[in-house]
Amino acid sequence: FKGFKRLLVPFGYNYKETTGQSDALDSATKHPYNVIKTSKLAHSQHLPSFDLDYDLLSGNKIIKNENFHPYSLAYAGHQFGFFAGQLGDGRAITVLDTVDKYGPVQLQLKGAGLTPFSRFGDGYAVLRSSVREFLASEYMAVLDIPTTRALSLISLPQLEVQRETVETGAIVSRLAPSWLRIGSFQLLNPPQSSYFGLKRDWEIMSHLTHHVENDLFGNKLDFKGVILEVAMRNAVTVAKWQAVGFCHGVLNSDNISLLGLTLDYGPYAFMDIYNSAHICNHTDQAGFYSFKMQPSRVLWDVQQLLNSTAEVVGAEEEGVAITPTFALDSEGKESFDNLFRWRKKGLELSDEIDDVFKETFQSAYLHEMGLKLGIKDLTHAEHLDLVNVFLTMMQDQEVDYSATFRALSSSADENVVADRILAFKPVTSFLQDSAKDTWLGWLKTYFQRVETDIENGKWGDKEHAHEARLHSMRSHNPRFVLRQWVLEESIAKLQAGDQSTFDRVFEMSLKPFEAFSENTRDEQLTEEQLDEKRLCG
Ligand code: AMP
Ligand code: MG
Ligand code: MG
Repeated sequence: FKGFKRLLVPFGYNYKETTGQSDALDSATKHPYNVIKTSKLAHSQHLPSFDLDYDLLSGNKIIKNENFHPYSLAYAGHQFGFFAGQLGDGRAITVLDTVDKYGPVQLQLKGAGLTPFSRFGDGYAVLRSSVREFLASEYMAVLDIPTTRALSLISLPQLEVQRETVETGAIVSRLAPSWLRIGSFQLLNPPQSSYFGLKRDWEIMSHLTHHVENDLFGNKLDFKGVILEVAMRNAVTVAKWQAVGFCHGVLNSDNISLLGLTLDYGPYAFMDIYNSAHICNHTDQAGFYSFKMQPSRVLWDVQQLLNSTAEVVGAEEEGVAITPTFALDSEGKESFDNLFRWRKKGLELSDEIDDVFKETFQSAYLHEMGLKLGIKDLTHAEHLDLVNVFLTMMQDQEVDYSATFRALSSSADENVVADRILAFKPVTSFLQDSAKDTWLGWLKTYFQRVETDIENGKWGDKEHAHEARLHSMRSHNPRFVLRQWVLEESIAKLQAGDQSTFDRVFEMSLKPFEAFSENTRDEQLTEEQLDEKRLCG
């Protein structure tokens, strides 16, 4: 392992040395492991040069030098709107923390055993969740959605991890320029310090904010600028989620990356049938983190960054940042009457965050939808008229989100498109007819708008305009979607010792826009192509 240059986070009580699978290490017997896959990052120029050391990536080896030893970094956070005190990081260990020619990089092992912050947990991760994280991180990256990355997926066949049933253990090694999240700041200035036994720590906060300003944002922003940047980055990311139909599931403040990366692949799901109220987290019955709530939940989380650093940016006296808080009554007891009382400080900056987030979200979302729909310069007004009607129709008619966009990318003939949209829907012919009329109505307006672009030369010379437009749309509407059932099948087979589906799914995740000929008849397809057709729904 080369590339240790410096330690980016060398401070504080929330920084503790950790050894991962300590018993295995002490006894010098290695945990048997099986390397299932490495991502293309393993061979990327974007990494500090190091030989892939599977003993390290499987948690069987520690590398230390005078500048560095592995560590875990604790964080706090709001879970479903309530501050939950210190809650992470009980199972991620940073084993490399350095700066390469492209900037900072931190390599973590998730699931390599206990850390000082494991609390009631075992520090392990199961194969099921590790497969989900590995595939989704790499799929999102290909879709050009900011995300943390996966480097390797390694199973530990002899490690039995007790969950609802006994499952196989696994380790994902993962990379990000920084794994800091909003909860990292909340730990140092909790909204109600006495409630969880957490204390404010301005000294470490000052190290942390300077590290962020200098190492992550290249000394170009003061911390107020950092907060606005965090707002903008997360606004772009959530806009991309909304456009692709990605439901995160746990948008707690500890899962909101300081760099706007999609972070924590837990109960996430890519939507099948479009439903704006889709809930992908089965513990979230109220839909706190449902699909349509995502933008406002992320914005609320960003406000918590201001809340925890208001004093740092001198916003305290201005009076505002908002937290629903278990306020204490005069005797220091928590009072239910005070539930959801808003603490206010730093009002102006809080408003600025709101504005910047909303503006950035809106323009990013319109941009993404324009690309998906093959419409240039999509405006807010058009979104209200044209796109909202489209989304409502998808929802009413219960059609597949990604497949419907793919159908729009298939032809410039409204009849063909309408048939394709409905091809995914098993209904009786009478209903099919009325549904088709409804679609034809909308498609007429849609294609009128498309014609305007073509008339105005927005797609180049008119002869090839349709072709150019459809080509562009096909590279912005994935044909392969990492759906729930695709993940489940990959996992089930992998658990039964058959890696072929996982391999195929990983391959397709890296080429989600590719299509075999749309006109090929099934009987002419190879086994592999049939499999592909099935996986693409
Ligand atoms: P999450 O709900 O995935 O955002 O996880 C929040 C935190 O729960 C993590 O940072 C860990 O600290 C902790 N955690 C989850 N699973 C385990 C585990 N098996 N062992 C120790 N800590 C865990
Ligand atoms: Mg998390
Ligand atoms: Mg998680």
